[in-house]
Amino acid sequence: MEPPLLRCLMILLTGIKMEMDYDALLERGLSKIPEKVFKSTKYETPQTESSVIGSKTVIYNFKEVAERLNRDPGHLIKFILRELATSGTYEGSRATLQGRFSKELLDSLIVRYIKAYVLCCSCNKPDTKLVKEDRMTFILCEVCGAKNPSKTLA
Ligand SMILES: [Zn+2]
Repeated sequence: MEPPLLRCLMILLTGIKMEMDYDALLERGLSKIPEKVFKSTKYETPQTESSVIGSKTVIYNFKEVAERLNRDPGHLIKFILRELATSGTYEGSRATLQGRFSKELLDSLIVRYIKAYVLCCSCNKPDTKLVKEDRMTFILCEVCGAKNPSKTLA
């Protein structure tokens, strides 16, 4: 255990660092607006960047893919792991899956995820968010306002 004063200082420094990261994120977000996929009419499916290392598969841009879909990485990994019937984790920007999976397979899973959890069933636009009410999850569309029930990830 570190002395309390040092601990306070560390918390303070972490706070400052987080603030700086947030500014960097904001700046990145702003510079990205012209090519922002969510407001454009043509929807680009994010591609996974992955490779098989030994008996594992690493998705290097996992967090970025989740961000592009405007979804919680925890939700996306749950879906992928369930579909592949395997185990795995995500940490930082990458996800590590047990087993060897091709990029084609992973990309096809992303497409399925988008159809099940991102696209609005009424107008087919990806500008949606997942909302939980009681035990149901809905896809709430920010374009047409439709609220359709989505499958639930157990
Ligand atoms: Zn809609």
